[in-house]
Amino acid sequence: MSKTIAINAGSSSLKWQLFEMPQEEVIASGIVERIGLNDSIFTIKYGEGQKYNEVLDINDHEFAINMLLAKMTELNIIASFEEITGAGHRVVAGGEHFKESALIDDAALKLIDDLAEFAPLHNPAEAAVIRVIQKLLPNTINVAVFDTSFHTTMPEVNYLYSIPMEYYEKYQARKYGAHGTSHRYVSEQAAEMLGKPIEELKIITCHLGNGASITAVDGGKSVDTSMGFTPLAGVTMGTRSGDIDPSLLPYLMGKLGLTDIKDMIDILNQKSGLTGLSGISSDMRDLEHSDKPEAQLALQIFADRVRKYIGSYVTVMNGVDAIVFTAGIGENDANMRKSIINGMTWFGCEIDDEKNNVRGEQRVISTEDSKVKVLLIPTDEEVMIARDVEALK
Ligand code: ADP
Repeated sequence: MSKTIAINAGSSSLKWQLFEMPQEEVIASGIVERIGLNDSIFTIKYGEGQKYNEVLDINDHEFAINMLLAKMTELNIIASFEEITGAGHRVVAGGEHFKESALIDDAALKLIDDLAEFAPLHNPAEAAVIRVIQKLLPNTINVAVFDTSFHTTMPEVNYLYSIPMEYYEKYQARKYGAHGTSHRYVSEQAAEMLGKPIEELKIITCHLGNGASITAVDGGKSVDTSMGFTPLAGVTMGTRSGDIDPSLLPYLMGKLGLTDIKDMIDILNQKSGLTGLSGISSDMRDLEHSDKPEAQLALQIFADRVRKYIGSYVTVMNGVDAIVFTAGIGENDANMRKSIINGMTWFGCEIDDEKNNVRGEQRVISTEDSKVKVLLIPTDEEVMIARDVEALK
């Protein structure tokens, strides 16, 4: 039997799914939250609706993975560690080097470490997890699946910032984007749903979760995306500002008495977006249940920023066949989908209210007459990771 574990490690969390491959059957999944804090939460789902939960102090990723492997044998999910022949790791920053998923050898791991400057919260945690798996499962193949790889097909006209060219040449200062695995998955699914080769399609994919990004996928290739050098750019997000005028930074730092630019960036990452605008929450559900005008305004701004990116990507690709919604908000929030598409009747794109009244189900949600199809496609980054491991085995 050949099992592959897909691992998505954040700075303080670790999400995973265990697949039987090549059938792509999910045997178990789980999450470890609050790593490095008190009362970490360790959860496994397995079998037929069975669950295992434990609250304890988990100090680091090594402890988390040790515990995970031990529990998997204890709960008879696996008979021995040898059954796990592949491990796929989500890595946020792959820079310009990693144009596709890669087998992890010493050189690749060093590059992942070196790219920490591009994703300081993520790459070090991901590299740490890779090292732990290498140690605990020495016969398992490790594959890195990068958030940025899908976007390495962007033309320079779209990835370059209008700043001195030498900053790109010397320091690789450019747009890299993120959520690539999700954009790749849903665009492939969209082509399947539409029954056309992806090479013939222009698709705009909207990954709307806590983090949100919009991508123009022309002929199966990412040609532009809303996130930038880091995932701070683009549309309004749960706690991130998205695009702003950089001149605001020194101005606000002066007003707020801040001297360290990192504190200002923290505000843009953690205290802005829906949280900052509403003063209530980063969660769409809380805003939709609130009758405070600030909450309603935050919802309008979110929809407006997504709509503007969609409009601009119609221009980038000179047309669009389908718009795809995915991730927490995209999959679950019918009101938000409607609100985003509402302003688009000018190019014959219309939501069917009845079809749109759905959560988390793959389907067409536009009217029969809509020239541009609107699709709801639940994302599945983990299965993409497992597929890439399988392909490199
Ligand atoms: P992450 O980027 O953390 O993976 P998710 O893709 O899980 O985020 O999306 C999380 C967001 O999805 C939440 O912030 C919440 O606003 C939104 N969400 C989840 N369920 C619903 C729902 N039923 N209605 C509206 N929004 C929802």
